[in-house]
Amino acid sequence: MRTKQFKSESKKLMDMMINSIYTHKEIFLRELISNASDALDKLYFRSLTDNAVGIAPDDFEIRIELDKEARTLKIIDNGCGMTEDELDQNLGTIAKSGSFTFKQENEKQDNVDIIGQFGVGFYSAFMVSDKVTVESRAFGADEAFCWESSGASGYTISPCDKPEVGTVVTLHIKEKTEDENYDEYLDQYRISALVKKYSDYIRHPIRMEFTTKEPVEKKEGDENAAPEYRDVTELRTLNSMIPLWKKAKNEITEEEYANFYKEKFYDYENPARVIHTKTEGQATYSALLFLPKHAPFDYYTKEFEKGLQLYSKGVLIMDKCGDLLPDYFSFVKGLVDSEDLSLNISREMLQHDSQLKLIAKTLEKKIKSELEKMMKDDREAYENFFKAFGMQLKFGVYNDYGMHKDTLQDLLLFHSSAEKKYVSLKEYVERMKEGQDTIYYACGETDEKIEMLPQCDAVKDKGFEILYLTENVDEFAIKMLGEYGGKKFINVCDDKLDLTDEEEKKALEEKNKACKDLFDAMKESIGDQIGSVRFTGTLKNHPVCITSEGGISLEMEKVLNSMPGAAENKVKAQLVLEINANHPIAEKLQTVFEKDREQLGKYAKLLYAEACLISGTTVPDPAEHSELVCELLTNA
Ligand code: ADP
Repeated sequence: MRTKQFKSESKKLMDMMINSIYTHKEIFLRELISNASDALDKLYFRSLTDNAVGIAPDDFEIRIELDKEARTLKIIDNGCGMTEDELDQNLGTIAKSGSFTFKQENEKQDNVDIIGQFGVGFYSAFMVSDKVTVESRAFGADEAFCWESSGASGYTISPCDKPEVGTVVTLHIKEKTEDENYDEYLDQYRISALVKKYSDYIRHPIRMEFTTKEPVEKKEGDENAAPEYRDVTELRTLNSMIPLWKKAKNEITEEEYANFYKEKFYDYENPARVIHTKTEGQATYSALLFLPKHAPFDYYTKEFEKGLQLYSKGVLIMDKCGDLLPDYFSFVKGLVDSEDLSLNISREMLQHDSQLKLIAKTLEKKIKSELEKMMKDDREAYENFFKAFGMQLKFGVYNDYGMHKDTLQDLLLFHSSAEKKYVSLKEYVERMKEGQDTIYYACGETDEKIEMLPQCDAVKDKGFEILYLTENVDEFAIKMLGEYGGKKFINVCDDKLDLTDEEEKKALEEKNKACKDLFDAMKESIGDQIGSVRFTGTLKNHPVCITSEGGISLEMEKVLNSMPGAAENKVKAQLVLEINANHPIAEKLQTVFEKDREQLGKYAKLLYAEACLISGTTVPDPAEHSELVCELLTNA
C-alpha cells in the first residue's frame, strides 16, 4: 500500500493542527459532528425521492462511542459516505478553507484565534489525536474504504470491511501531557457536555451509550454491608435537536425565552425584551435577540466584547460575531442562524460577506424599533434600560462624526428642569412654550449642581424648560446633534444665550461701551484665565457668572482635559466674566474703579473666584483667594 502525500497546503494546515497550542481544542468534536450531519442531510434528501436508500427518516443518526482502554473516540453516521476517490479528494486536500488563506496572508500573526473562531473542518481532529482513521462506504458503492493518517507524513487508503452505508471516524486520542489532559475526550460527561455546548441544535439525534452506577438492592440480613453498585448502560440522545429560535413564537413561553437567555448568556436576571424574528428573502435567517436589564460589570471597559452568536444551519460557527451589531447596540445579546453562511467561513471573509451585512442592517432596524416600542408602552422599563445603557447610545450619537445621530436621537432621555424625570427630545419640543425656538440645556455634575447655576434662573423665569446634562458625553452628543426638530440647542452658559428684548439689549450695549475701561482694568487683574468682562442682563439674583464664547464650554473643557494624554495639550474654553448689570455690585465696581484701582483688582479676583465656584470649577488660586476674603472681612 502506497502512502500518499497531502497536498502542500493541507500538509501545512495539518502541521498547524498537530502542533497547535490552541486552548479550545474541544471544537474538533463540533467539526466532526457537523460533517456527519451534512452527510446525513445528503442521504436524507435523497431518501425522499429514492426508495433504494431504505432508511426511515427517524433512523438517521450520529453515534458517539468511547473506549477508554483503546483510547478511541468514534463518530459514526449512516449518511452518504465517501467513495475511494472522495476520501482521497476530500481528506487529502484542504478544499476551500477560508481560515487557511487568512493564515497564509498573515503568517506572522498568531494562529490561535483563527482556529477557534472558524474551525478548520476535518483536520481539527489532529489537535487531539495521534492517528485518525475514516472508514466509509458510499451510498450505492459495493466496497468500503479506510483512510488512515498519523499526521503530516501522509495518508493511506485501503479497502475495508464495512457492510452499512455511512462513515466511522475513529480518533486515537493523544496521551495525556503535562499541559493538556487529552483524557477528557474519553470521558462520557465531558463529551456529552461538548455536544450540548456546540451541537445541541443539530437536527439529527446524536446518541451515545451512557454508563451510570445504580445501587444494588441489599439482601435481607445484609443491611449493614457496604453498599454495592452495578453499571447500567443506556443509549442517550445528547442534543435537543430543535433550536428554540426555530420554533414558532406562539409555541414558546416567556419563561422558556428567559431561561434560554439566562443559561446561554450568563445573566441572573430575565431580559428586558426579546426579539425573535425569522426572515426569508434576500437573506434567510432566524434571529433571537435579548435586551438585558442591566449592564454587565465590564460593559463600559475595553475588555467587553460585543457580538451575537452565529449559527449556520443550527451549528455554532462563531461565539461573538461583532459585525452583526453596531457599537451603539453592543449591549444586545443573542444569536443569528443563517442558511446562507458556510461553516468554515473565516473572519476576514465574514467581514466582506454581503449576506452578513444585510442581516446586520435589518437587525439594527429591529433593535431600534423594539427600543422605541419599549419607550412607548413601558416607560418605566425603558428608563431602567436607559440608566444601564443610555451612555452607549449617547456615545453612538457622538461617534463616527455623528453618522448615526438620526437613528439614535429619539432614543435619548435627559433629566430636565420641568420635573425631576426623564424627558425625550421629542417630548421637550412638543411641550415647548409658544414662541420658544431654542432647546436649552445646562451641564454639571448633578441635577442639584446644575440648578445652582446662576444662568438657569433667568431661563426658567421665562418659563423655558432646561435639559440637565450630567454625563461627560452628554454635551458632545448634543453638539453633534446641533438641532432637533429644527430647533437649535443652546447651553444656558453660552454667551449667545439671548433672553433680553431689543430695548434692553441696546441699553446694555451702551452701558458696556461706557464701562470699557473698568472691564479692561478688571481683566488685567484677573489675567489670562478670561477673555473679557462685561455686564449682562440675563442674571436674576446672582452677581456674577461665567459664560463661554466659541464652541467649547467650561464643562467640555473639564472633560477634554481629563482625558488620557490631554496633559500636554490642554483645551481652553474662552471664558467671559459676566456681571449682573442690575445687581448693586455693578454700581459698587464703578465707584471703586474711580477711587482705588488696587482695590478694584482685588474685587475683580474675588468675583471671578465666586463665579468659578458657582460654575462647578475650582478657584484658580485658593491661597490668594482666602487672603483676599480675610482682608475684606477685617476691613469691613
Ligand atoms: P468542509 O466540511 O468544510 O467541506 P472538512 O475538511 O470538514 O471541510 O471536510 C471535507 C469534506 O469531506 C466534506 O466537504 C465532505 O464532503 C467530506 N466528509 C467529511 N466528513 C464526512 C462524513 N462523515 N461523511 C461524508 N463525507 C464527509
